[in-house]
This record gives sequence, C-alpha cells and structure tokens, in this order.
Amino acid sequence: MADSFAAQTIESIRRALTARFEAAGIDSAALEARILTGTVLGLDLTGLIAQGLQQLGEDDAARLDALAQRRLAGEPLARILGTKEFWGLPLKLSADTLVPRADTETVVEAALGVLRAEGRMQEPLRIADLGTGSGAILLALLTELSAAAGVGTDLSAAALDTARANARSAGLAARAQFLVSDYADGLSGPFDLIVSNPPYIRSADIPMLAPEVRDHDPHLALDGGLDGLDAYHRIAPQAAALLADGGLLVLEIGQGQGGAVSRLVTAAGLTVMGSVRADLAGIGRAVV
Ligand code: GLN
Repeated sequence: MADSFAAQTIESIRRALTARFEAAGIDSAALEARILTGTVLGLDLTGLIAQGLQQLGEDDAARLDALAQRRLAGEPLARILGTKEFWGLPLKLSADTLVPRADTETVVEAALGVLRAEGRMQEPLRIADLGTGSGAILLALLTELSAAAGVGTDLSAAALDTARANARSAGLAARAQFLVSDYADGLSGPFDLIVSNPPYIRSADIPMLAPEVRDHDPHLALDGGLDGLDAYHRIAPQAAALLADGGLLVLEIGQGQGGAVSRLVTAAGLTVMGSVRADLAGIGRAVV
C-alpha cells in the first residue's frame, strides 16, 4: 500500500480506506471500511467516533493494512472476519459454509408470516432445515419460535461443526440438532416446517459468478446441476412425505425459478400458497 496507516488518526484512516474501497468498486465502501477499522481496533461505531482523533499504533496499522489488502484482492468482508450477521445473529463462518445472504431472510420472513397469520408462533413446532450450512435459517427461526425445535442437515460435516457452534453461541443448542444427511435422507417426520436454501445456480453459470462468490463460497452450496433445479427434484418429494398435516415448506429459489419450482412441488402433491415472495431487490426469492 502506498501510504502507511501508522501515525494517522483513526478518522482519517477510515476515510482513506473508504475512498480505496470505493475506487475498487466495493458497494458498501463506507460501511465495510468502518467495520474493518472497528474490528481491528475493537471499537464499535460510537468508539470509532469518540476516538477518531487518536493515532493508530504500528501494529494496528499493519493489521488493518493486511486485512484491507485482502478485501481489495476480492475476498468478501465476511470471509476475512469469519463472521456474518443474519437475522440479528452474529454467525461464525468456515470455508465449508456459504456466507448467509440478506436475501435469505426472505425465507425466514415468509415462514414466520404464514405461522403468525395462522396463530402458530407459540406452538412446539418441529422444523427441518435441509442444507443448513452455518445454520442461519434454522437458528433465525428458533429465535422467533420459542417453543419450536429443529434439525439442520448438510452433506458437509465441517459445515455442521460451524452450525453447532453458532447454535451454542446463540443459546439455541438445546433446540437445534445437526445431522450429516443428503437433504432429508434418513430424517423421520412429521415436520411442521421444512425450509431450505439449496444450491440453485446452473453449473454452466458458476464460472460467470462474481469472483467474491465464485472464489470464496463452497460450490457444494451453489451448484444446482444442469438446469439449477437438481435440489428441488430431491427435496419436493421428500418434503411431501415428511410434512405434517398443515405443514409448511419454504424454499429459496434463484431468479426466474419460481414457475419451475412451483410445478415441482405441485407435482409432489403439495399446494403452492400465494405468489413467489420477493426479496428486497424485488426478485422472486421464496416459494411457500
Ligand atoms: N444466492 C446465492 C448467490 O447468488 C446462491 C445461493 C444458492 O445457490 N443457494 O450467489
């Protein structure tokens, strides 16, 4: 890096870092610069502002510089920090877990919306999260459904270690179980709620993904096969067999997959409720 961060004030470094991130085309440059600076210094936003005129020590400057270089080289901030917030939960990540996306909160919201309308929020619901990764969807649901318990499955045992750690730190370990399994293979129902954010990118599209995704997220969590729909062919009949009467299936989908996924779940004997739920960008993101 041309100019060192040492002997500059925290505030001027934060501004310089923001400018560098902006120049590199990073979307939330100011936010990321603040999070990175705050993490290195162990300060929240208030602390950063209060101590803005203090100078950075050499060790902190070197650490911040090294992390900033990784970000500028295309590594996502969540990977650098090893953590990402989802539904207000600070989730630990590993190389084996997808970075939880804000889009996926659409799945949580869709499920809670139906359960709330049906007056079922306090029931001892049984939940299955197929391909749970870091445990994001299951743990978010358990924070809202205080009498529910659930199981998260994944093909990756390493991902489940991370999910278990996340359940423990969220205080949800007693209600969350994790099993190595191919979607719902070997699970015994009935479940009141089955959720999944399966891999849904067409194999041929993987090389075209943004480098931050392509080079850093596990392809096991992205690659949905030839037409991107492999996972739904597996999950739809499994869910139909495992759902309780009045049970709910909520699936995250990729852009443009609403029709095909709706047809697959209908063919499995389930009924699609309402239209495809859109994410914050207005893209169809969840089928209920
Ligand atoms: N939403 C992810 C992406 O766009 C894909 C996740 C998935 O395949 N389930 O990179």
